Amino acid sequence: MSFRLSQRSRARLQGVHPDLIVVVEAAIRRTEVDFMVTEGLRDPVRQAALVRAGASRTLNSRHLTGHAVDVAALVEGRVRWDWPLYGRIAEAFKASARELRIPLTWGGEWSRLRDGPHFELDRKVYP
Ligand SMILES: [Zn+2]
Repeated sequence: MSFRLSQRSRARLQGVHPDLIVVVEAAIRRTEVDFMVTEGLRDPVRQAALVRAGASRTLNSRHLTGHAVDVAALVEGRVRWDWPLYGRIAEAFKASARELRIPLTWGGEWSRLRDGPHFELDRKVYP
């Protein structure tokens, strides 16, 4: 079974770095767990609001430059936040990124405050 990005997900990729879009497109074809894109490019006003709300730790987010996307797992078309689903989606992202030779970081592997829905282009290669 192969999933496809919805129109809404595609619209949310506007302004995202083309290399990251290629990874997202490959990941949706490969993944065994469906997902939607919930956020790509973010403006500074929204970022500041997220930091105030405690939903983000940094004013220097990769979302501000189009180097990051957030996804939500879908089971039977409904959003689920169960942690194991994100590990499986991450496998699809990582395998796709490896194949495309696009260095990618998964927020689920951060040592502090893991961020399962978050994927970003590697800062070392994409400053
Ligand atoms: Zn994020």
